[in-house]
Amino acid sequence: MIPHYELHYVAKYGGIPATGQVAARVDTPDFVYQTELEAEGLEDIKFTAREWPRWAWPGGYPLYYMTADGGCLCVECANQNQQTFDKDAEKDWQIVAMDVNYEDHDLYCDHCNEQIEAAYE
Ligand SMILES: [Zn+2]
Repeated sequence: MIPHYELHYVAKYGGIPATGQVAARVDTPDFVYQTELEAEGLEDIKFTAREWPRWAWPGGYPLYYMTADGGCLCVECANQNQQTFDKDAEKDWQIVAMDVNYEDHDLYCDHCNEQIEAAYE
């Protein structure tokens, strides 16, 4: 699965304040999303936060993140280190894939060593 995070924004639509989010790819610069939102009629767009999703949509299964050095990260560590949103990050923070943990009960985060939640017992 191509990794994408939630890029949150504040903007105006017809002069009225609006908020929202887009699914953003690490390898795509912000101006691409800004252009898309402007094409939908939004103005004064400011990106306010970036967040790796905790759950897959659809399905609601728990997600984890794979890094360029072959490691994996839990969603908390992915979100706590802003390097994960940089396509040129160090290899141990560069997220190259995201996936659902269906039933691997021996999957641990390489940063905090916490067990990564599995969808099934
Ligand atoms: Zn972790």
